[in-house]
Amino acid sequence: MRQLIAGNWKMHGKLAEIGAYAEALRQAPGHVDLLICPPFTLLDRFNAALAGSTVALGGQDCAPCPQGAHTGDVSAAMLSEVGAQYVILGHSERREDHGETNADVAAKVAAAVAAGLTPIVCVGETEAQRDAGEAKTVVRSQLIHSLPEDFTGVVAYEPIWAIGTGRTPTEADVAAMHAAIRAALVEHLGETGTGTKILYGGSVKPGNAAALLAVPEVGGALVGGASLAAADLLAIAAGAPCG
Ligand code: PEP
Repeated sequence: MRQLIAGNWKMHGKLAEIGAYAEALRQAPGHVDLLICPPFTLLDRFNAALAGSTVALGGQDCAPCPQGAHTGDVSAAMLSEVGAQYVILGHSERREDHGETNADVAAKVAAAVAAGLTPIVCVGETEAQRDAGEAKTVVRSQLIHSLPEDFTGVVAYEPIWAIGTGRTPTEADVAAMHAAIRAALVEHLGETGTGTKILYGGSVKPGNAAALLAVPEVGGALVGGASLAAADLLAIAAGAPCG
């Protein structure tokens, strides 16, 4: 399976940065799929700058309903209209900053799929949960309650304590968690769950990408901070094994 390397710009970036960044991404290695998820305000300009390239675009969130009186929200169809093919949902920063529950994420997944977007659903444990030996139970519960039984999309395992900290789990810990996620997906989704792509996210950098991306059941990476520099995102992509 070809790996997916997804860049999450979070609340960073300006219009003036897009031209050079998009031009650099055109040099992406051919053996991986590359995705960039900028803030809503940059999507339309990114879409134009990446025209004719193989790099995909995504949003970082969407509303659970298609339209209406929801000030500040952006629907999945609106993302699609400006070129998004993917949307990140249930990122831990949204779960923490905006109190998003698994039920909220499930509603957003349904809205995204209805608009033709591929959802990337994030799950992951806190450091306290890991220390208490609860990591697999917590992640399994997030999966079961965030994904509809007919889910088609991508899952991203992002241990919260590894996001933006420079710390990563050991490769053995990533392998164990990804195996547990695979088992939960098969339990919940049946046959479809055998093929669901599972990304790893949390302090992926050029220096550790090849080792993390070589772990069994890792189908790519969700990259935050390092995605802000095109050279770093490309170096991470270059570290992915051939699918
Ligand atoms: C993220 O927020 O999805 C993420 C993985 O961030 P970072 O790579 O900066 O840890």
